[in-house]
Amino acid sequence: SNAEIGLIGLGTMGAALALNIADKGFDIAVWNRTTETTREFHKSAGDLSDRITPTETLEDLVRALKSPRAIILMVPAGAPVDDQIKALRPLLDDNDMIIDAGNANFHDTNRRMQDAGELPFLGIGVSGGEEGARFGPSIMGGGKREHWDRVAHILEAISAKHKGTPCATWMGEAGAGHFVKAVHNGIEYADMQMIAEVYGIMRDGLGMDNAAIAETFAKWDDGPLRSYLIEISGKVAAAVDPETGKPMLDVIVDAAGQKGTGRWTAIEAQHLAAAIPAIEAAVVARNLSSQREERAAGEALFGAAPHHIAHDVLSLDALEEALIAGKILCYAQGFGMIEKASDTYGWALPLPAIAEVWREGCIIRSDMLDDMATALRENPERNLMMASGFADRLKHTHNALRNVVAQAALHGLAVPALSSGLAYFDAMRTARGTANMIQGQRDFFGAHGFARVDGGEGHHGPWGN
Ligand code: NDP
Repeated sequence: SNAEIGLIGLGTMGAALALNIADKGFDIAVWNRTTETTREFHKSAGDLSDRITPTETLEDLVRALKSPRAIILMVPAGAPVDDQIKALRPLLDDNDMIIDAGNANFHDTNRRMQDAGELPFLGIGVSGGEEGARFGPSIMGGGKREHWDRVAHILEAISAKHKGTPCATWMGEAGAGHFVKAVHNGIEYADMQMIAEVYGIMRDGLGMDNAAIAETFAKWDDGPLRSYLIEISGKVAAAVDPETGKPMLDVIVDAAGQKGTGRWTAIEAQHLAAAIPAIEAAVVARNLSSQREERAAGEALFGAAPHHIAHDVLSLDALEEALIAGKILCYAQGFGMIEKASDTYGWALPLPAIAEVWREGCIIRSDMLDDMATALRENPERNLMMASGFADRLKHTHNALRNVVAQAALHGLAVPALSSGLAYFDAMRTARGTANMIQGQRDFFGAHGFARVDGGEGHHGPWGN
């Protein structure tokens, strides 16, 4: 019994995480529901197999661990997590810890934390896919601080590093870590969607071929948009299908899959009354993308839109600026939602530390997140779009976003995330909006009352009904 940590679930993520842990010099004991997988995993671990204890029963796993124990669960979110906790708890001592590292819905993590009572339990969000899990993910922790502190040295050691700083941070109590991970995924949906919209403008509006599109993304990856998502978008656009020799993008069906974390973010935003229109638009766009037959019927009925946009009307520089503006607005919305949740749930979610933890290891890692961390450290109370640095960038780029959205609308190209970003910007820069009309309507039909600009609540209009 000398392994420092245990891990259950040697699937894609669990196996990669176990190798990462062993690689960083920690002895780890592993168990998997299917024993054959455990044996094969151990055999294929090479030099690292010395640090890995394969076990064939949960009892053996528990016996292989140093006390107080810590065991990571890397199984599918939902019932498998509850089942594993139920099977494991009776075998553990009261100060042994279970760590759910899957993509749990944070409400489930809240509930599991409640059920655990004083028994140590952490819910941690792990981002970065298989590659991240193996070589350094971004880790967002939730639970009691003292429980996090017990395993922080391991989680920090295996995490991605930004100039030496570990991308593994305790976010707050209970489901805070899984909540932040969900918002991360919501932002990821919007970031990806905006890139896809700009790709669509290049392909259908500007008539560019895949090679030219790939080159454009590669160029942008050397500028303010430098990020993992822009980098891989360029690589995806450049790839050729080995079977047909056609550009890879041209043989991929235009229906996006989803595992649901972006949808959770959108649903949760409604519960919180948080404004994340670009993220919601991205979730809706994925839903719409799967309606392929109806879209084809729509094109047959209404005819294809007049896509062609003249190059002198819309430059690639304008597209780049529009994407910069869109990205800032999407992150401003995501951080705004985190702030709202922080107030609602009584978490003190650390916005600058969240930007920092996303700088490396996760899918949305980017240079801009480093600047966001700085801006939020200087001004944690401010909406990111008004924080120093970002306000200036928006002043320089919002007209490009406006031009792109306008041209897209005129030429029948759907750009839901970019246009939602722009609508958010325009709403947030309008001191006198139009909800006075809503209030008038509500008072007219429901006597709901309204506040007057010259003072006082609960007034009614002279509707005569
Ligand atoms: P996989 O499907 O690759 O692996 C699932 C693992 O869980 C397998 O070891 C499987 O065991 C085990 N398992 C499945 N059902 C049960 C059960 N009922 N009881 C016990 N063990 C079970 O999943 P991933 O590794 O991709 O994902 C694991 C978690 O990580 C999920 O919550 C996922 O959302 C999250 N995640 C995944 C990312 C990714 O890029 N793949 C990124 C970030 C998070 P067996 O061999 O017996 O089938």
